[in-house]
Amino acid sequence: MIIIKQEGRKIISGASMKDVPNILWLEEIRKEDIVSVGGKGASLGEMASIGLPVPKAFVVTAQAFRRFLVETGIEKKIFASYERLDVEDNEALEKAADGAKTMVLRAKMPAFIKDEIRHAYKKISAEDLIVAVRSSATAEDLPDASFAGQQETYLNIKGEAALLEAVQKCWASLYGARAIYYRAKQGFDDHTVNIAVVVQQLVHSEKAGVMFTSHPITGEPLTIIEGSWGLGEAVVSGSVSPDKYIFDQRSEKVDDVLISNKKVEIIADGDHGTKLVDVPASRQDTQVLSTPEITKLAMYGKIAENHYGIPQDVEWGIVNGIIYILQSRPITTIGNKKEAKSMSGQKQNAKIILQGQGAAPGIASGRVVVIRDVKDTGSVKEGDILVTKMTSPDMVPAMRKVAAIITDEGGLTCHAAIVSRELGTPAVVGTKTATHVLTNGQLITVDGEKGLIYEGEITAPAKPAQVVQMAAAAPHIITATSVKVNVSIPEAAARAAATGADGVGLLRIEHLILGLNKTPGWFIANNKEEDFVRELHDGIKIVLDAFPGKPVWVRTLDAPTDEFRNMMGGENEPLEHNPMLGWRGIRRDIQSPDQFRLQVESFKRLWKEGYDNLGIMFPMVSHPDEFLAAKAMMMACGVDVDNVTLGIMIEIPASAIMIEDFLKCGIKFASFGTNDLVQYTLAIDRNNENVADMYEPQHPAVLHLIHTAIQMCRAYDVECSICGQAGSDPKMASWLVEHGIASISANIDAIAKIREAVARTEKRIILEAARNRDAE
Ligand code: PEP
Ligand code: MG
Repeated sequence: MIIIKQEGRKIISGASMKDVPNILWLEEIRKEDIVSVGGKGASLGEMASIGLPVPKAFVVTAQAFRRFLVETGIEKKIFASYERLDVEDNEALEKAADGAKTMVLRAKMPAFIKDEIRHAYKKISAEDLIVAVRSSATAEDLPDASFAGQQETYLNIKGEAALLEAVQKCWASLYGARAIYYRAKQGFDDHTVNIAVVVQQLVHSEKAGVMFTSHPITGEPLTIIEGSWGLGEAVVSGSVSPDKYIFDQRSEKVDDVLISNKKVEIIADGDHGTKLVDVPASRQDTQVLSTPEITKLAMYGKIAENHYGIPQDVEWGIVNGIIYILQSRPITTIGNKKEAKSMSGQKQNAKIILQGQGAAPGIASGRVVVIRDVKDTGSVKEGDILVTKMTSPDMVPAMRKVAAIITDEGGLTCHAAIVSRELGTPAVVGTKTATHVLTNGQLITVDGEKGLIYEGEITAPAKPAQVVQMAAAAPHIITATSVKVNVSIPEAAARAAATGADGVGLLRIEHLILGLNKTPGWFIANNKEEDFVRELHDGIKIVLDAFPGKPVWVRTLDAPTDEFRNMMGGENEPLEHNPMLGWRGIRRDIQSPDQFRLQVESFKRLWKEGYDNLGIMFPMVSHPDEFLAAKAMMMACGVDVDNVTLGIMIEIPASAIMIEDFLKCGIKFASFGTNDLVQYTLAIDRNNENVADMYEPQHPAVLHLIHTAIQMCRAYDVECSICGQAGSDPKMASWLVEHGIASISANIDAIAKIREAVARTEKRIILEAARNRDAE
């Protein structure tokens, strides 16, 4: 049983702010103290309070900062210095910000605050402990205000003098230009905005990783732990294939251990952050965690899950045999997120203010931040709801932070929909009017499954029983039809692999390239070809490493010209009236040999490194000549084309109609890109919300094309697959299995239900065949 040490709490919410001390120890903090210690401080305190081994820390409270302002007499001066500031006047804003920051930095910290910080630092450890110093802004009306530009972190701080300086620097960051601008725009009263500073022991993990306290897809009581050498960053960023351990909470035993070859690790680099180094050969294949360590970690995970009432995604680290829990937050994947946050009771009374297409499942509440220009994404903070006309690749960093995404434009296959699903962020697209109807700061709830947006916050806490129910509904299933997964951003690779998918049926590289914010043409024109090849190689490698021994089909570049326009080099892109029907896919690569060559160069390196599971898929082919041309170009680049896996997408009706000619040319696989196949068969723009309800993947004409192509591929014994969005629909999956498809590649969030639909259909086919035999 977990005993919450409530009696240890120093501040009782509602108590006068005057009574709040300058320093609070983690053990004294509860989540209610967020106004005094900020979001970071409160969540660390909450974890410590339930007995999790959090690295030692104390918080210099927001009230200490306030006292500093008052005692030094700069409080009034600071506010007066920018009282009449026009924040749109950049020069004036920068000047005011510099002035305010300088005032904070130059002011002499009152001796009593200094002494208390020094004393706390000594108490943390007799020797000068290396700490991280992190700021966390708070406001009375919005306690967890992680305002833009104020999340300063100073790592590797050692000694009293350096600590005091870092604290003062954190305080000064409250008056950065971007921060002042953001608060003014959001209508915050700057007089009430404060800043707390978290001072925490820096853990230089010898081994570290992540843990899902329940199965992230099915919710089964299985703890999944991934671990590798060095800092956890290597596992989180996907730079290494970690060991994987499964701990069954029912039997309280380690169920499965998968030891990976861990080639690299991230370690501390003196005072200058971190560096990636090779793991010595002797440790590469050594198991990272012992059975007692796995068991103990699973126990901590369970404590966190029980406390928060919802499965957790936990970061951990181990130094000298001591386990530290570094972070715990709700799992943001699939079933759990959607199911665990049930709104049922409250939803009837809630007011629907907007509707669109549910593009990525899950329910989230938060405050609206309307982004009209990608330049403004700096104002997006953790937990916001991003509202924009349509997302673009350069918005991905902001998309990572938000609780949900809403767009005016787009359908189920637009950029916002694809990326949100991979990030596990609820999304509603094609609302037509979100950027006009919703206002900055407005509190709303988004249902990414149903495509509904409600007024206010209406999520309810988790019901653990539901998670258990889900577990029973979705056991591990083996199917004859392969169930693969689609990936677009390498950072989603680990989540994609955790679904247990049989491979990657589509890796879209354009998201990777668009994320570089420079067109391939720019790299070529600026003699930076090697950079391009390396980025592509490294991104694809992350996905290959997540799927050892399983096929990964990488698609060559398929970005319409309009998606390149905002990038460096985008000014050279032709203006097309209809980019969807324009210069994209293999037709562009054939006419741009340099662009194609660079892609091939990265594939060649990967094949050379031994990744024979890498297959290449050509998009938008409309005639076998295009396949042959691409193959010939690869051969000219030195690829042994007969010994690598080359296939095509069937996404233009012409390729479905002429499939036999392609088969005769030696394609090794074909995969339906139904997102385009539907739009080109029915003449329905897939991104146009005005015709979204006519976009019909199960239209008889589309099904006819699919059916005939499958039969032909079967006749030639060539793998026929699907990677379009329709493959994520269980009904369509069932139809495809009945019609003989060999594999289905679905979105990460759909794998569990597709696997189940496939298994059910396969069993029915077998049963019917047996019954028919018996009847004969
Ligand atoms: C498709 O067209 O179905 C497909 C998978 O490709 P994209 O969505 O990237 O055009
Ligand atoms: Mg397509």
